Amino acid sequence: MAAKPFQCLLCNKSYTNKASLVTHERKAHNQNIIVPHCHILFTPLYSSYCHFRGLFIDAIQSRLGSHHATEGKKKVQVHCEENLFYFIFREQETFTFQVSSYKYSCIFKGQVGIKRIGEIFQCSNWWIKANNLGGETIVDYQQQDPITKKFIDKEIGFSWKQKSRKIFQDGYEFIYFYGVITCSFSTYRQTVISN
Ligand SMILES: [Zn+2]
Repeated sequence: MAAKPFQCLLCNKSYTNKASLVTHERKAHNQNIIVPHCHILFTPLYSSYCHFRGLFIDAIQSRLGSHHATEGKKKVQVHCEENLFYFIFREQETFTFQVSSYKYSCIFKGQVGIKRIGEIFQCSNWWIKANNLGGETIVDYQQQDPITKKFIDKEIGFSWKQKSRKIFQDGYEFIYFYGVITCSFSTYRQTVISN
């Protein structure tokens, strides 16, 4: 029997290669919320949360306020420790974890999503940036279907992925790990009418 070293940590099925394991995970555990190693993720310090919140708000606001700000899909990336992502987003309905690719994700939708993110980061205007020409750029939360005229909620996605850097020293290879959050969203520019 061929060796099957790639084991699913959610149901103990084994596979001969990683691609098969990934396919299995997508089919059988698509909306998985179990983080098998969650017992080693310690509760983050409040100061770590505050620091991450500052980085996130700054990244979003810089993107919205850029002179090159164009409408459309955007991404910002911010360094973030794994336990911070886990503890901030694990209670959300759309929180998922892909075990074999070590990737977390959490999707927010529409105006409700904008508000929820504001509550998470204790910052209600995180998604609006006014410019000095009387306009503002915002994180877009809905679009109108051109045919049905119905409003469809847009997504604001958060994902966390482990990254690493290999380095040779003293004849050995060392791997250093770190984590990055990617936030994807759409922007929209509007003119504010003032009296
Ligand atoms: Zn499985």
